[in-house]
Amino acid sequence: MSDEQFKKVLSHAKEYGFVFPSSEIYDGLSAVYDYGPNGVELKNNIRNYWYKAMTQLHQNIVGLDAAIFMHPTTWKASGHVDAFNDPLIDNKDSKKRYRADVLIEDYVEKIENKVQKEIKKARKRFGDAFDEAQFVATHPRVVKYRAQQKEILQRMAKSLENGDLADVKALIEELGIADPVSGSKNWTDVKQFNLMFGTKLGASADSAMDLYLRPETAQGIFVNFLNVQKTMRMKIPFGIAQTGKAFRNEIVARQFIFRMREFEQMEMQFFVRPGTQKEWFDKWKEERLKWHKSLGFGDDYYRFHDHEKLAHYADAATDIEFKFPFGFKELEGIHSRTDFDLSQHEKHSGKKLQYFDPELNERYTPYVIETSIGLDRMFLAVFSASLQDETLPDGSTRTVMKIPAILAPTKVAVLPLLKKDGLPEIAKQIIDDLKWDFKVQYDEKDAIGRRYRRQDAVGTPYCVTVDHQTKEDNTVTLRERDSMAQIRIPIAELRQHIADKFNLQNWLGKTL
Ligand code: ATP
Repeated sequence: MSDEQFKKVLSHAKEYGFVFPSSEIYDGLSAVYDYGPNGVELKNNIRNYWYKAMTQLHQNIVGLDAAIFMHPTTWKASGHVDAFNDPLIDNKDSKKRYRADVLIEDYVEKIENKVQKEIKKARKRFGDAFDEAQFVATHPRVVKYRAQQKEILQRMAKSLENGDLADVKALIEELGIADPVSGSKNWTDVKQFNLMFGTKLGASADSAMDLYLRPETAQGIFVNFLNVQKTMRMKIPFGIAQTGKAFRNEIVARQFIFRMREFEQMEMQFFVRPGTQKEWFDKWKEERLKWHKSLGFGDDYYRFHDHEKLAHYADAATDIEFKFPFGFKELEGIHSRTDFDLSQHEKHSGKKLQYFDPELNERYTPYVIETSIGLDRMFLAVFSASLQDETLPDGSTRTVMKIPAILAPTKVAVLPLLKKDGLPEIAKQIIDDLKWDFKVQYDEKDAIGRRYRRQDAVGTPYCVTVDHQTKEDNTVTLRERDSMAQIRIPIAELRQHIADKFNLQNWLGKTL
């Protein structure tokens, strides 16, 4: 994939009613987007697919919907007031602002591309006899590249951890990193920048209370830990899952809905016995990857990236990275957060947030494994991997969104071949029958071929066409999006025939 492909994603999202720039008539607001009619359906379906996988399919995970506003001490306790910073650097010539860590990570990614080139070359040369692990461990150039990568990332991690921002700048200069836009190497010093949005609660200036818009949904779960545990009589290990908006004043917001200032998270905090966190971390890594793979894009869209630099609260962390049009990037984070958050809230609130374990006859502060995924990023992943230009056997091309059927915005389009002879009436009857189970759409405009293409372009898995034969024998044509195969089927069998494609068990049952 390429820039070209990414541009196509942007224009397709807009043109087909998936994503619009926010307040576009006023020229938009940077890194804020609105979801159009097709977008909101896809987004809701992704959210449901996650939420059901978490709560409906696990007896020991329950839901929550905490408010966006929280008591300000929450963010002191969580460390966000003091440490939710990004290191930023400006280029003096282009006046562009960057995240210093991202500039360095992009440089390391370029070294990785060289490694991948060597691997590709060698695979061609050695054919079936190629042993990638051995090649990577022994080939002198690859060994050198990998050592370089490690050294750079470790130095960056150490400097950031120690707050040695001068060394982060020194590293950028030593590596000769240039501004990707202007090519200039004329950099300012590196500064820390807090990402939380502030606001005020209350009417009068003196009594108003400083608040933050939450930068993550997780803290709403932690502060409700005992409420949920007690009211639902949860026994450890158990989880709390929640989806909702989060806000970050991102320094460089780019790449469309990949990095937004207002976005939605889907987070699950899983509370475990201290000492068992490694086991649960591994289990959730595996389970989350299976969830992603259940959508059928193929294994080569995913990879794990274990963190060198751990956040202040974590004892292990990994990202599930997805092959976006602009390369492999974080889609989901899985973090072993220890007892950091609950202990901090105990300290700052003076309230005990502990659990009495009846099996051990012991009271303790649970450890936490977190799985955290951006809904908008998942939307972009699904959208960009689904959008394809296909050449058909007759040489023509079609644009088709091969959205996994369970996530498709519209499940079935019902199309009368002609706008007369009672065909629209029959089509509407079919809609009235199917609409209770599936999101259905009616379309009578243009030739049938154009209507099929229009549905392909928004990822509708099935089209049902009503024609004159329908009036005689109550059958319709059912066209399938991916194969474009058409079958004749009695109206009475339609629902049963298509239901399998949208059945949760058929998607998740194989993997979870
Ligand atoms: P990044 O390194 O890309 O800034 P992060 O490591 O800060 O992300 P987390 O705090 O772990 O991200 O948040 C969990 C998930 O929330 C991420 O994996 C991502 O999918 C999503 N996310 C984070 N920031 C944004 C954003 N600005 N816009 C959209 N999604 C986001």
